[in-house]
Amino acid sequence: MKIHTNHPVISIDEIVRPTRVEVDLKILTENFKAIRTHVGNSKMMPVLKANAYGHGLVRIAQLYEELKADYLGVAVVEEGILLREMGIKIPILVLGGVWGNQIPLFLKNNLSITASSIDKLKQIDETAAKMKTKAIVHLKIDTGMERIGVHYYNAEKFLDAAYSYKNIFVEGIYSHFATAEFEDLTFPKLQLERFNQVLDYFNKHSIKSPLRHISNSGAILQLPEANLDMVRPGIMLFGVYPSKNIKKTVVVNPALTWKSLVVYFKVIKDGNSVGYGLTWKPDHNIRAITIPVGYGDGYFRSMSHKAKVLLNGKLYPVIGNISMDQIVVNIENDSAYNSDEVILLGSGGKNSITAEDLAEWAGTIPYEILTNINTRVPRIYLE
Ligand SMILES: *Cc1c(COP(=O)(O)O)cnc(C)c1O
Repeated sequence: MKIHTNHPVISIDEIVRPTRVEVDLKILTENFKAIRTHVGNSKMMPVLKANAYGHGLVRIAQLYEELKADYLGVAVVEEGILLREMGIKIPILVLGGVWGNQIPLFLKNNLSITASSIDKLKQIDETAAKMKTKAIVHLKIDTGMERIGVHYYNAEKFLDAAYSYKNIFVEGIYSHFATAEFEDLTFPKLQLERFNQVLDYFNKHSIKSPLRHISNSGAILQLPEANLDMVRPGIMLFGVYPSKNIKKTVVVNPALTWKSLVVYFKVIKDGNSVGYGLTWKPDHNIRAITIPVGYGDGYFRSMSHKAKVLLNGKLYPVIGNISMDQIVVNIENDSAYNSDEVILLGSGGKNSITAEDLAEWAGTIPYEILTNINTRVPRIYLE
């Protein structure tokens, strides 16, 4: 068992925090292989933004490099630089836009740049010329998300410009779906059609097509004609489906267990309220345990009065408002002892708590649950 932590002071052997995340690398490996088989010849770009959806950026990147992923995708340049510093060698595309004076950082660290305007292309070309290098660029086309990228109906000029710059290598061209996880695929199909129209450029000008990619998890599951040269799975790598009603054409399983230990046991007497705001009180004596986790770890306060945890395979309710660092759980007449294991997310016995459950309690989506598990929670990897 290996522990990875970004903590600058505490060494691996000293980690004593009862609250931790365990990540099963065998399950992640199976998920990756299942997706690879499903997409056939398309290349794979695991998307590892936001600390690899909470699973820990560096170790997860190492795993996909070992598994021969073709590319890695991250959101911001700092994530890319960290991966280079940790020795990751495979190509890395930064999916977010370039901001301010970041271009030299991309070039120094051999990171592929998302170019989303002619203006940016020009800046990239000039910087690459100064640094006597060639910039690797993926062109971003907006086919309906209205976030970043050149609109599909203005793409021709953008492509002309891209191929006119001497210090730019156009390695890829991509777009992004807004609703690929919906049951109704009308809009993703329209987006794909728009993207394909843009891609006709290469035929028309007899230019060898760069890597074409558009599919996120939703599209990988539901729209195989969008696989093109490369796919960009994110959440499904981690065994979580992007929506409830999506077609589960690939079987993937969650790999993350968020757990803690009982650190306190007491009886709360009839009529005595619990926690900040005194928002909950029993009408009879109950037994209660305290767990050292809270919204400061990403255990959302909005789950107060809804969340449950698993103790000895049984579900128990969190009572009172969730604090920054602690929660209180009602175990009624049952027994618990200090250091008993408590599962916040994951399986225990016959029961399980999923990212979807937490999302429902918090009024959000599973993505936000996973990406918000704070970095102060140590990640432990089951190899
Ligand atoms: C986040 C992201 C993905 C992955 O999305 P999932 O829904 O998690 O599969 C793919 N491409 C881009 C550009 C992204 O930002």
